[in-house]
Amino acid sequence: MTQWHPQTEQLVEYAAGSCNTGMSVAISVHLHYCKHCRERVSELESATAVLFETQAPAPVADGTFDQLMQRIQREPTVEPVRKPAPQQRFPRALQSLLPESLDELNWRHPMKNLSVSHLLTDETGMIIGLHHMKAGGRVPNHTHRGDEINVVLEGGFSDQMGSYGEGDFVFRTDNDTHAPQADAHEDCLMLSVVTAPVKLTGPLGWLVNPFIKP
Ligand SMILES: [Zn+2]
Repeated sequence: MTQWHPQTEQLVEYAAGSCNTGMSVAISVHLHYCKHCRERVSELESATAVLFETQAPAPVADGTFDQLMQRIQREPTVEPVRKPAPQQRFPRALQSLLPESLDELNWRHPMKNLSVSHLLTDETGMIIGLHHMKAGGRVPNHTHRGDEINVVLEGGFSDQMGSYGEGDFVFRTDNDTHAPQADAHEDCLMLSVVTAPVKLTGPLGWLVNPFIKP
């Protein structure tokens, strides 16, 4: 059961189709695991559809508001986000960016416990990739020159702000410094979307930035 969700504004943008690709992939992946947010997005999409329909120029007459309310109540439920075929390991929005095997990706190992692979840089410069932390592995304190989203795919991790499991949507801004540590018993695989390269702080800050060059 997911406990960490996108912010309402992020879901509104997603439902309106105005997210950039990085945010859109991150939210789509979260929705795969989170019934609560799937339902919210369905409601928001219905509301958005009604708004677009009502933007057509039409004479305003008495009863327009009542008609609108009737239409909203009649709106069919938007189909829930489809789940991937059972043989797929990951949600479809992510699977479509991946080769057949994760071994085919160009993994780099900026730290002993951390492997990263770059999948895509989107139209706004957001970097979409995978992070793999070894069981019990810890990433040194770091902050970001922008936003960072992690969606847990397998395993779990924790940091100063909480503990996160499968499907959790962890959003950090450049005000946050954190040192994630994978759960002790299992490796942690995450979708990672960052707006700018990670900047390590503290004594290991000199380490090569995992995202600067492939
Ligand atoms: Zn959610």
